Amino acid sequence: MRMLADVAISLRQVTKRYGDITAVDRLDLDVPEGICLGLLGPNGAGKSTTMRLLTAQSLADEGEISVLGLPLPQESKRARALMGVVPQLDNLDEELTARENLEVFAHLYRVPRAGRRAAVDRALAIAQLTDRAGTRTVKLSGGMRRRLLIARGLVHEPRLVLLDEPTVGLDPQVRQELWSLVARLRDEGVTTLMSTHYIEEAERLADDCALMSHGTVVARGTPARLVKEYAGASVQEHYVPAERLAEIERLAAASGIPTRRTGPSVSVLKAEQLGEGLRAELGEPSVRRPANLEDVFVVLTGENVE
Ligand code: ADP
Repeated sequence: MRMLADVAISLRQVTKRYGDITAVDRLDLDVPEGICLGLLGPNGAGKSTTMRLLTAQSLADEGEISVLGLPLPQESKRARALMGVVPQLDNLDEELTARENLEVFAHLYRVPRAGRRAAVDRALAIAQLTDRAGTRTVKLSGGMRRRLLIARGLVHEPRLVLLDEPTVGLDPQVRQELWSLVARLRDEGVTTLMSTHYIEEAERLADDCALMSHGTVVARGTPARLVKEYAGASVQEHYVPAERLAEIERLAAASGIPTRRTGPSVSVLKAEQLGEGLRAELGEPSVRRPANLEDVFVVLTGENVE
């Protein structure tokens, strides 16, 4: 029976500690059904811990979690059966073929015997591995293995998919292939929670982004809205000597205008909001460009993008 839940994921004031470290800190997060939410943040922000809480691999110290209307950890088994989970680390069985890896999961996820063959064929097609079905996993390329890993999480046609850093460490071409796979899921109406620290990944795939820092969400919205709110429309970059960089930062800060430092330059965000006086004091910039999500990330997390 299909349970109705217009909120696919809900976390309320959730805290998870490891000894003295608070990995997730009074986190509130809702994910409506049918969207792709990008969980964005620097390393150590608490993204993976949040994922582990949702699969009940970790238990929260405080707060309430529900997945597809089912409270965790009480109903974690039922919730887990409705979810597809794609881990960050490849844990495919190397001795098995692509098809066999999928069959094992179809069995584990109780895909009815009569529909198992079709489910595995469908997953192979999603991974574009139909012609490699009989190849042992150890012989597949890195990109093929990653596609298989994702397809394995989809074999039981889950309503919710958790993708933990799906393209970390992959070369740009393979990343592009995986992006089209994730985009396809979204088009099919599957709810997707995707953690990433690649800004471009979130910008391309996410309907909505939650930016995490120090275990909690510091900003939430569509990429366009976040850019508008925290970085404005345009950015001007000044390539100037070091002492002048600091001066520009000070002048901007005094007027409440955010800046970010990138090596030899300082970027002044919300440049369209500069008053005449400040504009003159800053001088002519070296570059003008539209604001982007990376600007938001840097301003809100204080971290530079790799
Ligand atoms: P992210 O996925 O955003 O990089 P994590 O959720 O992995 O962040 O980590 C959040 C914080 O919790 C980090 O400070 C990390 O070192 C710590 N942490 C995560 N898992 C453990 C663990 N099993 N034991 C101790 N500390 C942990």
